[in-house]
Amino acid sequence: MYDSPSSKHHELFIIGAGASGLMAAVTARDLGIDVGIVESNDRVGKKVLTTGNGRCNITNQSTLAGTDEAAALSQKYHSSQAEFPLPVLKQFGVRQTVEFFNALGLPLVAIENGRMYPMSLQAASVLEIFRIALEDRDVPIYFKTKVSDVKVSTGHPRFTIVCQTEAEGQVVYTSDYLFLCTGGLTAPKTGTDGSGYTLAQRLGHTLIHPVPGIVQLKLDYPYLKELSGVKFEGLGHIVVGGECIRSEYGEILFTDYGASGPPILQLSRKAAYRLAKGDKVVLSLELMPDRTEEEVVDFLDTHWGMFGHRTVAASFIGILNKKLIPVLLKEAGIDQEPNLLCQDLSWKTKKILYRLMKQWDFPVLDTNGFANAQTTAGGIDTTELKAGTLESKLVPGLYLCGEVMDVDGDCGGYNLQWAWSSGYAAAMALADRLTGAE
Ligand SMILES: Cc1cc2nc3c(=O)[nH]c(=O)nc-3n(C[C@H](O)[C@H](O)[C@H](O)COP(=O)(O)OP(=O)(O)OC[C@H]3O[C@@H](n4cnc5c(N)ncnc54)[C@H](O)[C@@H]3O)c2cc1C
Repeated sequence: MYDSPSSKHHELFIIGAGASGLMAAVTARDLGIDVGIVESNDRVGKKVLTTGNGRCNITNQSTLAGTDEAAALSQKYHSSQAEFPLPVLKQFGVRQTVEFFNALGLPLVAIENGRMYPMSLQAASVLEIFRIALEDRDVPIYFKTKVSDVKVSTGHPRFTIVCQTEAEGQVVYTSDYLFLCTGGLTAPKTGTDGSGYTLAQRLGHTLIHPVPGIVQLKLDYPYLKELSGVKFEGLGHIVVGGECIRSEYGEILFTDYGASGPPILQLSRKAAYRLAKGDKVVLSLELMPDRTEEEVVDFLDTHWGMFGHRTVAASFIGILNKKLIPVLLKEAGIDQEPNLLCQDLSWKTKKILYRLMKQWDFPVLDTNGFANAQTTAGGIDTTELKAGTLESKLVPGLYLCGEVMDVDGDCGGYNLQWAWSSGYAAAMALADRLTGAE
């Protein structure tokens, strides 16, 4: 099945055997299209293997509860054109994803917050199922073949695909239609080095500045080593110029370079964009998000009233993670007074402690970079693509799928969902076009 590189022609060539390319290939073949795939790695879906901590969070069923599933799902996506994902998600959403994988023999299970995984809880099984599906359908994959250039002509064949191969050096393939499924810039070790952007740009497309999304934040804070490993349920806010631009609740984790955990990953794309613009970005954390400011004052005053004879440090035991307490005392300027009793706390220090429970500010230095990110925010400008079909408005016959375009999803299975949805929509649109149904 897996041909060695030499000159090849297919009606459709797909560049990239990642999530969107695999979905597009299976769908296109089932719709009767002659399809071949080129992949720079020596296997399919190297990135998919690393998803969901090796379990592959395929999609998320939590948006199925409402009356308009596609509209609810589209709220999980970000793009310079906010409405762009909807027509694609309407065609192929969570239900269709579950049915698609069921039909391939990969039942899904929901195990936490609506997140759906293969029943095996192994990302490898997703790839194995795709590998079997492609083999069953005789779809050839040309591995270790990196596309370095694409030329377009008005005649036949329309696309000339220039590839670099280990075995034969430069080879040239041709096709009538081309799907660019090359991903973004995250986890470059898995094959996504941004070369898809260059290919699209050479064909006239515009790149919306890509930044890391779903990534940890590096903080400018002197006591991170002391805080490293501390976990707490809190509320995080991204604040720019005194204005809160996004908030997320959940388990926050301090690391020796900054902060991680689901809320931080969710907040990161906003922070990344503002940092890229040169703005000063602050991560503001609430240690007691369930209490109002007044309730925090009441709670601490009552507590200190009951345990006035205890040291301030001891008074926080059982309330905050123990490793947080010495740093809190430094922030309040009382770390040099280890024997200070609650009953002797000054009004000024109390006010600092009340505030830190609701607003502990950490300047954000940077994100933890593309190497550690789960998705790329930004990408090829979606105003240059036809909504719903994903065909280029600039290059007829060229379609974009997955992360390469300026669409990214929240954490929780939404980025793979976009890969499945967009791969399906592009294949469907091409089939409609070939049968004259478009
Ligand atoms: C650590 C990690 C965990 C993640 N976990 C999840 C999760 O649990 N759930 C979720 O929804 N999302 C997750 N994601 C995001 C998700 O994996 C991606 O959004 C998704 O894989 C994007 O699909 P894609 O088809 O656009 O690109 P990819 O899956 O990245 O595939 C692109 C393919 O194109 C190939 N390629 C690139 N350029 C060329 C070229 N010039 N020539 C030939 N081939 C080329 C690459 O080698 C690659 O195989 C995670 C990402 C990471 C990094």
